[in-house]
Amino acid sequence: MNVLDCIIIGGGPSGLSASLTLGRARRNIALFDDGTNRNRVTQASHGFISRDGIEPQAFKEIAFKELENYPSVSYFTATVTEIIKDIDNERFTVKTSTSEEFVSEKIILATGIQEIFTIPSIRKFYGKSLFSCPYCDGWEQKDKPLVVIAEKEEHVLHLTKLIYNWSQDLVVLTNGVQLSKEGKIELQKHNIKIISEKIKDLIGNDGYLQKIEFETGATTIRSGGFVAPSYYRPNQFAEKLGCEIHENGKVITDGVGRTTQKNVYIAGETERTKPSSLMISAAKGNKAAVSVNTDLTMERF
Ligand SMILES: Cc1cc2nc3c(=O)[nH]c(=O)nc-3n(C[C@H](O)[C@H](O)[C@H](O)COP(=O)(O)OP(=O)(O)OC[C@H]3O[C@@H](n4cnc5c(N)ncnc54)[C@H](O)[C@@H]3O)c2cc1C
Repeated sequence: MNVLDCIIIGGGPSGLSASLTLGRARRNIALFDDGTNRNRVTQASHGFISRDGIEPQAFKEIAFKELENYPSVSYFTATVTEIIKDIDNERFTVKTSTSEEFVSEKIILATGIQEIFTIPSIRKFYGKSLFSCPYCDGWEQKDKPLVVIAEKEEHVLHLTKLIYNWSQDLVVLTNGVQLSKEGKIELQKHNIKIISEKIKDLIGNDGYLQKIEFETGATTIRSGGFVAPSYYRPNQFAEKLGCEIHENGKVITDGVGRTTQKNVYIAGETERTKPSSLMISAAKGNKAAVSVNTDLTMERF
């Protein structure tokens, strides 16, 4: 049986960067990706130096092309459905949606996170005119008539203050939640309108927001804006493998990708169940890969 050095699950920037590092370290690895990266809904990614404005699929294709230079790296378009560990965590059997099985000494979980929206119609606009990260998409929205949609007061205040840097033409929608008196005053003194009525629907064309309709029948015209989703880990591989998880959802690591389970490493957004960026995720993939390679080297020397 061919036992791989490492299997990497997830071909976002974290998994791709981990694959490159391990390929260059001459490790036999397999990378699996099923194309469910959460930024697939957007047309352009920003802020990754030398790749500013790149289309997400093009970013992945350049990375896959680079990986072709390293013969010990194999790439599979497949969903990993199960990871079975042996009793000592010495071997992991990875099963895929294509009914194949692969065995590896080490695993890097780089499967990302996904959003939950309390208003489902946000999905229709997410990535084209509604966004969650101003560092990613604020520049393109600058000085436009924007909406900030958030329900928890701490999210409302944080996101609105942040977005105010890009546009001062802001309407805040809390979807039925009343802000505290202090919270309202803080925003209103910057001429920010707060609408706390329940949202009925978001209306627009081809992903571009035009107006928001409230349950009262009132509407407000806005061309786009920012939302505060909550996030979850789409598969529970870290949990199923027995990795210790902090009550805030963060998988406990040594800071460079090693989880509390021997031979199980983690990289990218899935570690903290929090959004970050292409650059930070790629860096985390690199760190986890260095940990994998260091451990393999020391164990075998
Ligand atoms: C609308 C939007 C716009 C964004 N714009 C920017 C931007 O401009 N600049 C920026 O820096 N960041 C941006 N981001 C954030 C950026 O996309 C993330 O920070 C980054 O992609 C996280 O990298 P990751 O490797 O952790 O996860 P992901 O990129 O989500 O990759 C995880 C990968 O794992 C794969 N996967 C998951 N489960 C399985 C499985 N069971 N089997 C096989 N494969 C699996 C998925 O297919 C996916 O490709 C944006 C995000 C969104 C939603």
